[in-house]
Amino acid sequence: MKKIVLATGNDHKVEEFKDLFINGEFKVLSANKYGGMPEVIENGKSFHSNAYLKAYALSKQLKKKHWVIADDSGLEVDYLDGAPGIYSARYAGAQASDMDNVDKLLTALLGISKSKRKARFRCVLCLIDKEGGTYYFEGSCEGKIGLKAKGKSGFGYDPIFLPDGHKDSFAELGELIKMQLSHRAKAVMACKKFFNK
Ligand code: IMP
Repeated sequence: MKKIVLATGNDHKVEEFKDLFINGEFKVLSANKYGGMPEVIENGKSFHSNAYLKAYALSKQLKKKHWVIADDSGLEVDYLDGAPGIYSARYAGAQASDMDNVDKLLTALLGISKSKRKARFRCVLCLIDKEGGTYYFEGSCEGKIGLKAKGKSGFGYDPIFLPDGHKDSFAELGELIKMQLSHRAKAVMACKKFFNK
C-alpha cells in the first residue's frame, strides 16, 4: 500500500481523508507526523493553484521521499457570483473563525429567498508523486444555503449547507452521509478510480 502524506494542518480534514481513502491504494498520514505542514501563502487564483502550492511545499519539505496530497476547497454561492470561493476560509477576515464566516454569509443573504440560495462546495486535490508527477482530481456537491445555522457535526460552512435532496444541513446529517455526498468524497473517488486502473 502506498503511503501518502496529507498537506494540511487541519485535523478535521485529516480524519475525513483517512476515512475516505480507507480500503484503497493509499494509507493517508498527517503532515504532523513529518515535521508539520510548512507555512504556505495561498495566493493562487484558483482551487487548482492553491492545492498545488500546498502539495509542492510539503513535497519539497519531504525532499520528494513520499507521495503527498493537498486539497483546496471552498463554497461558491451563485447569488454572490461565486463568493466566497477560494477565500472561503478567510471570508470574514484573516483570523476569522468558522462562526464568523457563517455569520457573514448569512448576513450577505439576508432576505434572499430559498430559490436564490443555490451553492456548491468544490474540492480540488493535487497529488505529487516521488518523481514530481502531478495529478489533479475534482469533486463538487450542489446544494443551497439555509436560513440559519443548524447542527453540530463537521466544520466550516457545514451548519448552513443543505445538500440537494436533503432538508438538513451537513452538520445535522453527520459524517456518514457527508462521506457519501461531499465534494471531498467525490474528488477522492476520482483519485481512487484513476489509480485502480
Ligand atoms: P482550505 O483549507 O484552504 O481548502 O479552506 C477551505 C475552506 O472552505 C474551509 O476553511 C471552510 O471554510 C470551507 N470548506 C471546505 N470544505 C468544507 C466542508 O466540507 N464543510 C464546510 N466548509 C468547508
